[in-house]
Amino acid sequence: MEPKIIKIKAKKAFTPTRIPGADYVLNQYIGCQHACKYCYAKFMCKWHKHGKWGSWVVVKENLPELVKNESAEGKVYMSSVSDPYQPIEKEIKLTRRVLENMDKKTRLGILTKSDLILRDIDVFKEFKDIEVGLTVNGFDGELKKEIEPFSPSNEKRIHALKVLYENGIKNYAFISPIIPNLVDVGELIRETKNFVNFYWFEFLNLKASGREFGEWLRENYAESHEILTHKIKLERYVENVIDVIKNSRICVKGICIHYPKLVVVR
Ligand code: SF4
Repeated sequence: MEPKIIKIKAKKAFTPTRIPGADYVLNQYIGCQHACKYCYAKFMCKWHKHGKWGSWVVVKENLPELVKNESAEGKVYMSSVSDPYQPIEKEIKLTRRVLENMDKKTRLGILTKSDLILRDIDVFKEFKDIEVGLTVNGFDGELKKEIEPFSPSNEKRIHALKVLYENGIKNYAFISPIIPNLVDVGELIRETKNFVNFYWFEFLNLKASGREFGEWLRENYAESHEILTHKIKLERYVENVIDVIKNSRICVKGICIHYPKLVVVR
């Protein structure tokens, strides 16, 4: 489905953030065609009343110009309320133009669910300090259709990690959202550890994923929901997963747990 495109002019490029591992965020888009059912950025619909999450994208068309004259002291994360490589990026190349114009000394982290990111390897190579991440969670078949309907497959994302690695781009896997019984963390590590520089992990933030998703999870995966909402069961589950991670001998930058208050284990 073609998204509704809303073109706007932004006032500034970099916004301070409390996201773990970052000092600023850069959102050249607001809204995301990937339309993940659990997306934490759905709250943007409160301010952008253009319809259902996934059906519209706000395009900050002047960002490529703004980044020419702005710099960020600290680490920049791209992006927090969209995927910088969602399908419309293929045509309008907004992310690419932002990257081309950005100061190449910017400490930049990019995260996506799309292998379209491989198109911009040439630009990544110009940056002095860049980390490029792919979200990997192993959702497949009917489950993937249901909760991540429009993003590229996990196979394509894992392939993208491999190609980035082979091109000398520092890469990371973001294993998220970890949902009991639906995500096999050990298997994902085994599939990727030979070509991933480091990992971030994140357990599902049930509150941020919204009431509709919570109800869907309870109806369809009652045990997963039960673990996520039962303090002792959740702690036990998290402990087991952390054991798996620690025994894997990989480089871990952080493990985010929502208890529901955020705790980051490093
Ligand atoms: S790719 Fe990210 S920003 Fe886009 S809908 Fe999915 S979770 Fe939200």
